[in-house]
Formats: sequence, C-alpha cells, structure tokens
Amino acid sequence: MKVTERKGVKGKKCTKCQEWKPLVGGFYQRDRKKSSYDSICRACRKKARDEKKTEHAREIEALMKANEELKEEIAKLKKLLKDKS
Ligand SMILES: [Zn+2]
Repeated sequence: MKVTERKGVKGKKCTKCQEWKPLVGGFYQRDRKKSSYDSICRACRKKARDEKKTEHAREIEALMKANEELKEEIAKLKKLLKDKS
C-alpha cells in the first residue's frame, strides 16, 4: 500500500477497513530500520486478534464439554462394573 501525505502527516489506507490512517499511531511498525508498517491498521489488527481469542475460547469450551461427556461415560462404566461384581 502506497504511503501518502495528508496535511503533512504520512499515512496510508488500511487494506482491511479501507480507511486512511496516519502511519504513526495508526499502524504497527513491522521493521524499525526499514520503517515498514503493517498493511492493516491497529484497530483491525486488534479486532483480528480478538476474533482469534474467541475462536480459541470456543475450542477450549468444546474440549471441556467433551471431557465432561467422557467423565459421564466413565462414571457409567464404573457403575456397570460395580453392578456386576
Ligand atoms: Zn483498518
């Protein structure tokens, strides 16, 4: 994405939300030496991260649920064994 200047402030368009934002403060710097910035703005970066977090939380929830079901199965099997003896 091309860097443009607005009112003396260097910035560029975020590839995600299509909004022009100043480089400093609007984007995360990827390489300090080359002064290259992320292609998506901080807000979009944060949003993407939060979405990932939610995804992860859902995975954990599913695992916990599976674990509960397994516990129930084990309890059932234990009961069966107990009944037999
Ligand atoms: Zn954005």
